[in-house]
Amino acid sequence: MVKAYRPNTLTEALEILSTEKCTIMAGGTDLMVQRARGSAVLPGFDRPLMFVGHLKELQKIYQDEEGIHIGAAAILTDMMEHELIPGIFKEMIGQMASPPTRNMATIAGNICNASPAGDTLPYLYAVNAQIVLQSTDQKRIIATRDFIISPKKTCIKPDEILVKIIIPAKEYSNNYYRKLGQRKGMSLTKVSLLGMADVVDGNILDLHIALGSVAASIVHSPKIEKSMISKKAGEIKEMAEEIVKQYADLIRPIDDARSTAIYRKKASLRLIKDFMENISQE
Ligand SMILES: Cc1cc2nc3c(=O)[nH]c(=O)nc-3n(C[C@H](O)[C@H](O)[C@H](O)COP(=O)(O)OP(=O)(O)OC[C@H]3O[C@@H](n4cnc5c(N)ncnc54)[C@H](O)[C@@H]3O)c2cc1C
Repeated sequence: MVKAYRPNTLTEALEILSTEKCTIMAGGTDLMVQRARGSAVLPGFDRPLMFVGHLKELQKIYQDEEGIHIGAAAILTDMMEHELIPGIFKEMIGQMASPPTRNMATIAGNICNASPAGDTLPYLYAVNAQIVLQSTDQKRIIATRDFIISPKKTCIKPDEILVKIIIPAKEYSNNYYRKLGQRKGMSLTKVSLLGMADVVDGNILDLHIALGSVAASIVHSPKIEKSMISKKAGEIKEMAEEIVKQYADLIRPIDDARSTAIYRKKASLRLIKDFMENISQE
């Protein structure tokens, strides 16, 4: 039987982690699947478990001058229902899993799983969300793109807990999200594209494109985005072919059980073009 801790406070949790390496469990929707050992056999864990999903300090969602703070253990359902969460982020979360899973699954679990198919990640990369890590004696704040090193690998240390995520308090005038899967609900992502743009008087003031499931990590290029800023929405349509070519170099999908590399590449490039051609002038 695996040893398990259920600390009463975040401080208690950090103290335990400062002396003993544990596997942190929030909703368990990733971990219980990854560690499954077959029917009628308990999942296998090689370290003591530390439950954190119930910790009130990790569940809060609030806003201050830094932006919107989302507690690590905020569940997807609470995020979908919270007035502070930007509309397009809610739409993306609404396409994840099913209501029962969204009632357990947390934002930190999706980030720490570090999968290129993690459906919250395109948004977090696009807005340069900051990840806040805490240990007993240190707090570290790291951009999402630096926190995730490769599939299944992050730079979290054994004595740290991801405590919250900070995103800008901002809605964009143009929002575009497409998640392609085997079916409409309850499906893992073959390709996803998030496009967001701010258009004022026909001018692009800000623009982001982020793609999931088409490379080892989320595809997001501030350099390509910069080349579209300050352009007229009409000009962007003309630039579409050239921009698509630039993304083609970054999109390096694989064949797996969900899809083929060829489909992923073709579909993702079509989605980029579709987003660019449909940016509204308003
Ligand atoms: C039926 C089903 C459907 C799903 N559909 C989707 C989908 O459509 N899109 C999608 O992206 N995912 C999907 N998932 C995957 C999963 O639900 C999400 O990734 C979810 O957000 C994981 O959160 P969790 O709290 O359950 O994580 P857990 O399983 O508890 O943990 C996942 C990882 O995060 C670490 N962790 C968790 N919290 C912390 C913390 N505070 N500090 C440090 N480390 C932490 C754990 O140690 C573990 O490594 C699905 C899963 C299932 C079972």
